Amino acid sequence: MESGVVGVNHECKTTSTITIKGILSLLMETIDDGSSKRVISLGMGDPTLATCFHTTKVSEDAVADTLQSHKFHGYAPTAGLLQTRNAIAEYLSRDLPYQLSSDDVFITSGCTQAIDVSMALLARPGANILLPRPGFPIYELSASFRQVEVRHYDLLPEKGWEVDLDAIEALADQNTVALVIINPGNPCGNVYSYHQLEKIAETAKRLGTVVIADEVYGHLAFGANPFVPMGIFGSTVPVITLGSLSKRWIVPGWRLGWFVTNDPCGTFRKPKVVERIKKYFDLLGGPATFIQAAVPRIIKQTEEVFFKKTVEILKYTSEICCKKIEDIPCIFCPCKPEGSMAMMVKLNLSLLEDISDDIDFSFKLAKEESVIILPGTAVGLKDWLRITFAADPSALAEGMDRIQCFCQRHAKKQ
Ligand SMILES: *Cc1c(COP(=O)(O)O)cnc(C)c1O
Repeated sequence: MESGVVGVNHECKTTSTITIKGILSLLMETIDDGSSKRVISLGMGDPTLATCFHTTKVSEDAVADTLQSHKFHGYAPTAGLLQTRNAIAEYLSRDLPYQLSSDDVFITSGCTQAIDVSMALLARPGANILLPRPGFPIYELSASFRQVEVRHYDLLPEKGWEVDLDAIEALADQNTVALVIINPGNPCGNVYSYHQLEKIAETAKRLGTVVIADEVYGHLAFGANPFVPMGIFGSTVPVITLGSLSKRWIVPGWRLGWFVTNDPCGTFRKPKVVERIKKYFDLLGGPATFIQAAVPRIIKQTEEVFFKKTVEILKYTSEICCKKIEDIPCIFCPCKPEGSMAMMVKLNLSLLEDISDDIDFSFKLAKEESVIILPGTAVGLKDWLRITFAADPSALAEGMDRIQCFCQRHAKKQ
């Protein structure tokens, strides 16, 4: 095959990859400016847009102090400041049966860059990666730029969005470089049990592939299953843990994330591998040095009550959502969310008169009701919708009421 042709095809594929931000901005443009209704966004995962979610004063003070100390105006080492890497190693080790060291931790510009770093490091000719469906489209976008083939395995709504392990076995081959899981889950709001994670680790081990665990919603769990980090199974299978301050500390704009090797058996410690990771980080600009410098204090001084409160609000707002959904016949929630900030609901189009699919639903809803929700197609599931419940309770309730009105107006006449 001519490389030029591959290049052209590849370019097309990259630009046609849907991004959440792309769809949301199109939806925003659809909103009727003349409408008296305030815009309610249940589309974006940025909790700072809601007044009930804000970070702690401790975190703000830590950043202000490091900035004003005049000590952190220079470059940080490319892998991150040592004290920052240490603090994150300690933070993550609290929940592990072994101790991470600063060498395992690389500081990235949010979890987004950690995703792209993983893809860049694992990419090689012919490589494929196993991604969840529904999922988080940044993985698809990154894979397409790196020319890594994407193979989707399904999350099973009837089983609480568990991973379809049989599908994984069938999809993987000798060119599979990683299996990605997102836990707690975006977009489904599921939280995997210890047992499920153990089975995932054993499957990945059998297939000889590493696990990339996106734990950007780590600890944001409010259901029956507590959050269990995949790193616990690091001695079964090499695990790369991705995370950030963005969601748990509610500071997505600070762009402070991490790429962490959980690898007590030392697969990632081979000199060549370490060298490759380090060199790749030489290419990147991480987060601002003074933000990095604030991390040890942010982690040490954030009080448990802050985390508890966030989780309680999320539980409460998710319940508002679920309750309202019960009153709306054309949408169905197969299992209540137990974590993260989003959930998936299924559209029953047979009850609707003039709505052709999830995209049509979202655009008409934006136009008529000034409510933004993400069509499931954007996360890989047609005729589903993703609702973000990290919103103010009053806005959420009003948004759900408007969805109800919308559905009534468009209901098929019996
Ligand atoms: C928000 C999010 C990210 C990106 O995190 P940032 O730290 O804001 O870059 C990555 N993965 C998932 C599943 C997310 O929801």
